[in-house]
Amino acid sequence: MEAYELTVTQALERLQRGELSCEEWTRACLDRARAVDGRVRAFVQLDEDGALASAREADAARKAGAQAPLLGAPIAIKDNMHIKGRKTTCSSKMLENFTAPFDATVVAKLRDAGAVFLGKTNLDEFAMGSSTENSAFFTTRNPWNLDYVPGGSSGGSAASVAAYETPFALGSDTGGSIRQPAAFCGIYGLKPTYGRVSRYGLVAFGSSLDQIGPLARNVEDIALLLNVISGKDPRDSTSSDIPAPDFTQALGRGVKGLRLGIPKEYFVEGVDPEVKSAVHQAIDRLCAQGAEAVEVSLPHTEYAISVYYICCTAEASSNLARYDGAQYGHSAAGSENIVELFTRTRSEAFGKEVKRRIMLGTYVLSAGFYDAYYLKALKVRTLLQRDFERAFEQCDVIVTPPVPTPAFRAGERIDDPLQMYLGDIFTISVNLAGVPALCCPAGFNAAGLPLSVQLIAPIFSEERLIQTASVHQELWRDKNIRALQI
Ligand code: GLN
Repeated sequence: MEAYELTVTQALERLQRGELSCEEWTRACLDRARAVDGRVRAFVQLDEDGALASAREADAARKAGAQAPLLGAPIAIKDNMHIKGRKTTCSSKMLENFTAPFDATVVAKLRDAGAVFLGKTNLDEFAMGSSTENSAFFTTRNPWNLDYVPGGSSGGSAASVAAYETPFALGSDTGGSIRQPAAFCGIYGLKPTYGRVSRYGLVAFGSSLDQIGPLARNVEDIALLLNVISGKDPRDSTSSDIPAPDFTQALGRGVKGLRLGIPKEYFVEGVDPEVKSAVHQAIDRLCAQGAEAVEVSLPHTEYAISVYYICCTAEASSNLARYDGAQYGHSAAGSENIVELFTRTRSEAFGKEVKRRIMLGTYVLSAGFYDAYYLKALKVRTLLQRDFERAFEQCDVIVTPPVPTPAFRAGERIDDPLQMYLGDIFTISVNLAGVPALCCPAGFNAAGLPLSVQLIAPIFSEERLIQTASVHQELWRDKNIRALQI
């Protein structure tokens, strides 16, 4: 087995036993990235020198007896989180030359834990999209089939993990951006409870929805990474002081007596039959291990897309107002006055989808329409939250398809935004309700594309997701790296 194929858990054991060095591990990932990333295009920046230098430091620290949970572990970071002194582009022309003046809290925590930053991964511009085709730079490809999208917006992070360029990565999830690409790329992806992880240093999109989370090829590594990034941060007032447990303790707890809620609204017409059958199979296998399935209802699901695309565009229009050419990023040269500066800067440097969202968001917040759209959406958002509260009176974990279809072909939906938005139907309610959810690989369809199952738990119950996924994982070990088409 090559070092780049190791899980974090396996590699850390080898480091401990002296069978592997941090430098060898990082070098193996960098070599792998150099070999495959020309086709996958997951990274917008690969920091080879910086990564090797940190790996060597980690080796020295290990020799000196230092202990840190991820000492020497290579990781990729979505390019909407700050690493001090490196560019944060958000895959936008607006921030193409913006250098981060500070570390995001998650990055600072990873640094303290000894992680090695391999580089920054591609995304849909400002995290708006579901295919990574909205990147201003290039489209990332799905490592299982390069004609297909890896999902989005954390498509670069998901593809880099799936292609074995890194053992794990960080993504952000406003409406599914960790879970949907994890599903399309056949890996694990967890969106924590809103408030579990600090958003300080994450470029804001929809601040009441955004959450940072881990992507990895197995659930142990998800738990390890979640341990490091969770917790209260005085720099983010929306981070919660509810203590974060050691999530690895939930591994191997079993599912005996666990009630799995199956929401009927998620198994409707239009959901791909292979997607449905993978989820049913996952449920059956968990039930064979002692879980029990109960039907539940999330009756307001049909309103989720409308509510999400009102709330997130409203918040985006406000958050993105700061990119005016005067403070950050791109600034249109030769403008005669301030209005011209704002107009030209924003016209030149924002892509089509970002402009669409700013316009939609400005419209739903405008006097006269605020009550009819934004306020109404907030009310329905509360109903969606209550749907989950009621459902969790009858079950412990909700099990659903994460996306109605497997990955789609590059180019297939990019000119039809509504079609693109509709694909988010099963991930966005989770953000609107603030609950945590984990997508787990569940085999492949006839065309060889990954299938996935989404587990959803009540707020601050990520342990239940990890507990359930660790049983699930044992039952689905059916394909490996040799099947990758890169
Ligand atoms: N696909 C969704 C959107 O376009 C979700 C994006 C995200 O979670 N960042 O808004």
